[in-house]
Amino acid sequence: MKKIEHLGIAVKDIDASEALFESLLGTKPYKREEVKSENVITSFFKTGESKIELLQATDESSAIAKFIEKKGEGIHHIAFDVKDIYKELERLKAEGFRLIHEEPKKGADNKLIAFLHPKGTNGVLVELCQEISN
Ligand code: ZN
Repeated sequence: MKKIEHLGIAVKDIDASEALFESLLGTKPYKREEVKSENVITSFFKTGESKIELLQATDESSAIAKFIEKKGEGIHHIAFDVKDIYKELERLKAEGFRLIHEEPKKGADNKLIAFLHPKGTNGVLVELCQEISN
């Protein structure tokens, strides 16, 4: 794992949270993107080498809606930048971690992503991501 790529934060109202994080970080979001497969709208801020990803559910079936219902708004996942997501998933599986995605899929911000099950990681939802090279 190379570095923390971003922290994902579950929010109820992405417009309000964008304004809040804009004042907090002193910078505007650089991208807003809907991920239809996950039923979320995301908004990204750069903070030095890392990023903040705000996530708002677009319907009740979204994992973000369920998370907020259970725990309220707040930090939802931590994402690590990896060089080779396929190799990393293989390595983690061999180490005994539970994978939510056996195969990486296309996520927001031009990334291949995969999640590990939080039950195997002290309750922390871990995302692996690798930039898709064009
Ligand atoms: Zn993420």
